[in-house]
Amino acid sequence: MGKIDKGIDFLLDLNIRHSSTYMDLALERRRYRGEHPTEIAALKCMDGRLNLPVMTQTTVGIIQPFRNLGGKFELGWPFFQASLDQWVQYSISRGRHCMVFVTYHYARGDKHRGCRGFNYDTQQARDTAINLKDQFDRVYGKGAVIPIVCGIETDLEALILHGEDSDQSVDLSDVHETSEFELVEFLRLLYSTIPEQIIRDLLPLVLGNIRHVAEIRASNRAIEDSEHKEWVLGVGRGFDWLHLINTAFIVGPFDPNLSFAIETAAKLLKGNIDEGRVDSTNGIVLLTSAAYRDTGGPEHNLAKEKAYFLSQFAQKIIQKDVPDLLPYLQILTGCTDLNTRKFEVLERHSDTLTSRV
Ligand SMILES: [Zn+2]
Repeated sequence: MGKIDKGIDFLLDLNIRHSSTYMDLALERRRYRGEHPTEIAALKCMDGRLNLPVMTQTTVGIIQPFRNLGGKFELGWPFFQASLDQWVQYSISRGRHCMVFVTYHYARGDKHRGCRGFNYDTQQARDTAINLKDQFDRVYGKGAVIPIVCGIETDLEALILHGEDSDQSVDLSDVHETSEFELVEFLRLLYSTIPEQIIRDLLPLVLGNIRHVAEIRASNRAIEDSEHKEWVLGVGRGFDWLHLINTAFIVGPFDPNLSFAIETAAKLLKGNIDEGRVDSTNGIVLLTSAAYRDTGGPEHNLAKEKAYFLSQFAQKIIQKDVPDLLPYLQILTGCTDLNTRKFEVLERHSDTLTSRV
C-alpha cells in the first residue's frame, strides 16, 4: 500500500477534477453548440499526447474522440461502423452536419517520437488516413459526413490540414498573423465543396491551434516532455477525462483485432519500464472503462458487464503475451457516465496480478 496506491489514486483524483470541470462547462458547451452546431469526431491514435481539445483550445466534450492503435480504423469493422453510424444518426436527427478528423501523427524533430503503431513510418500513417477518408467519401458520398485528413505534429502540437485533394496540405505552425477573413478564404480554397457551416465551425479549431502553437513556442518546453512515459493501459470508452499527456495508451473496443492492440500497448508499457522512462515502483494500471448515458437502467448495467468482460479479456492477453508486465500490473475497472464524465469504480486491485493468482 502507500506508494503503490499512487497510480490508481492519482487517476481517480484526476477523474473527479475533470468531471467537476466538465459539469461546470455545461453552459459553455451549450453556448458553443448554438454558435457552432457541426458535430465533430476525431479518429486518433491511442497515443496519450494527442489531446485535441487542448491543441485546438476547445471546450472538452465538443470533439468526440475515437481512439485506436495508430489511429487505424476501417469502416468495415462491425463494432466501429455501428458506433460511428450511431453518432452520425444522432447528428442527423438534430439537423447537424458531421465532420470527422481522420488523423495521423508524427514529430518534426525526430522520427522516433512519431507513431509507434506505424513503426514511425509517417508516410504510411498518412496514406492510411487518406485511404480511410476515401472510404468515408465512398460510404457517405460527401454528404452527411465530411472527413478531413489531419496530421498531428506533436513537437509543436500543430495540426496539418489536408485539403479535399489530400496531397495539398497546410501546416498551421506556418500560419502567422492572418486575419480571420483571410483564414476563412483560405479554408474555402482548401475545402471548396464542403458546406459553409462546416467551414464556420472548423474556423475556431484552426484559430485555437494557431494560438496554441504560439504558446508552445513561447513556453520553450523541454523536448523530453514529448517522449513516451505512459503508465496506464486504458481499454474501452469514455476516456475524455484521461486526456493527460504521456499518461495512457488507450485502446478502443472497435478493432476486431482487439487482442493485438492490447498486446502492443502492453509491450510499449513494458518498454517504458525497461528503458527507465517510468517509475515502475508506482505500478502500471490496467484501467478499463465502459461508457453509458442512461443511468439506472439496462444501458448502465450493460456497461458494467462490458467493463468486467474487457478487463478480464485484457488480463488474459497480458498473462499470455506480455507476462513480464504482470509484476507491475494494478487493476482499475469501472464505467463512465457520459453526462458527467464521472468514473464509477467497480473493481480495484492495487496489489499486483502475480500476488493474486
Ligand atoms: Zn501513434
